[in-house]
Amino acid sequence: SLAGKTAIVTGSNSGIGLGIARELARAGASVVINSFTDRPEDHALAAEIAEEHGVAVRYIKADMSKADECRALVEQAGACDILVNNAGIQHVAPIDEFPVDKWDAIIAINMNSAFHTTAAALPMMRKAGWGRVVNIASAHGLTASPYKSAYVAAKHGVVGMTKVVALETAQEPITANAICPGYVLTPLVEAQIPDTMKKYDMSREDVIRQVMLERQPSKEFATVEQLGGTVVFLCSDAAAQITGTTISVDGGWTAL
Ligand code: NAD
Repeated sequence: SLAGKTAIVTGSNSGIGLGIARELARAGASVVINSFTDRPEDHALAAEIAEEHGVAVRYIKADMSKADECRALVEQAGACDILVNNAGIQHVAPIDEFPVDKWDAIIAINMNSAFHTTAAALPMMRKAGWGRVVNIASAHGLTASPYKSAYVAAKHGVVGMTKVVALETAQEPITANAICPGYVLTPLVEAQIPDTMKKYDMSREDVIRQVMLERQPSKEFATVEQLGGTVVFLCSDAAAQITGTTISVDGGWTAL
């Protein structure tokens, strides 16, 4: 059980982050959920997870595109035994047309935020004598696709940084790993369906099977519950010697 542990999950009012927050709460951890908004429904979501699992859950607003807010999130949480860097955005365009502001935002949110939160959290983990850093990278942290230059660069960067954090903590009871999901049907992926339908003049079903799941040999989406379960596994004693590596949850994508 993760009772007594505090987990921070960045970008967790939706999608994979929310699924991870729910599984960590189910496993008994106190959880901090986060996004850049500060709406009543964000706090209501925290209350709902707390109620369901009988653990403390707080929502803390912090914009992961801003260095100081990344660090302030960890400071405000007051404890961080488990850090899950999950916040991420996507933009798809050929590199010579890629908007500079989108490039900067993707690098900041998908990669730099993990640097800032990790820097703020490691001293807390050292003080507590235990820690887990779990970075949500992607199959695109290990392979590439056209038109996703910023995303692929950021995710490869996260995988690299994960290895460095693992080496710097190798002789401490702290591990750092990256999870590399294939396609998971979340709002981030849902948002890519209409454009792809238009681009290829395809039905929703054909886009899902022939375009999105083309490289996912299982022909099934991974689920947010499976991602949450993988994080809980990395927090278990069985995973204490797993550090500096990637776990693919991609239906065979990176085996191709
Ligand atoms: P999503 O859009 O459903 O969720 C993204 C989360 O990040 C949301 O909670 C959003 O509020 C938050 N967020 C966005 N910008 C933020 C900011 N500036 N500050 C704080 N929070 C911010 O997307 P998702 O599919 O759940 O993606 C979560 C992570 O998983 C991302 O890092 C993504 O790259 C990665 N991933 C997703 C898939 C997939 O198929 N869905 C595959 C591989 C990796």
